[in-house]
Amino acid sequence: MMRLSTTALFLITATHLAAEDARQLDAHEHGVGQLNIAFDDGQIAMELQAPGADIVGFEYAAQSADDRAKVDAAVAALARPLDLFVLPRAAGCSVVQAAASLNSEDLHDEHDEEDHAGHDHAHDHEEEKHAEHAEEEHDHEAHAEAAGHTEFHAEYLLACADPAQATLIEFAYFDRFAGAQELEVQIISDQGATAFEVMRTAPTLDLRDMF
Ligand SMILES: [Zn+2]
Repeated sequence: MMRLSTTALFLITATHLAAEDARQLDAHEHGVGQLNIAFDDGQIAMELQAPGADIVGFEYAAQSADDRAKVDAAVAALARPLDLFVLPRAAGCSVVQAAASLNSEDLHDEHDEEDHAGHDHAHDHEEEKHAEHAEEEHDHEAHAEAAGHTEFHAEYLLACADPAQATLIEFAYFDRFAGAQELEVQIISDQGATAFEVMRTAPTLDLRDMF
């Protein structure tokens, strides 16, 4: 019933994922993001998509210094998955890769995905891009403004010393992002795929049955 195909794509290539993002921007529901989590041996792969409305409270192209600062701060926060999706200390998880970006309807984001792969400092990197491609960014923003929807996208790879202990996720995400109301979470493990809805009002996910 959930979008299993999205997770499958995410596990295969980020490039296909970018195409998937493009299709979904129109359809997204403000307040509701998607989080896919795949457990594979000692690694946990995660992918987050959330409307701009959830993350920074607006979806127009950031023009003012304030708006730009909000976007930059959000991208930086999204690049720290363990601060947003808190796992039990006993699982011993650490971040191997984290990349976050803001996508508008007009995707040069295949490009972004590749640029950002493996960088913890997506924030700094994004700023460099802005400087280098000022003209291109201008077009990008004009288009986004006309279209009216943006999404933040992040991908993470975690390594866990004892992944079987990763049985509870606390969603500090909702504390950090005031516009976020719900995450549709899909967990992929040896047990198959399971869908959950995690709400702001009950921001924890108990995964003990998954192990
Ligand atoms: Zn929107």
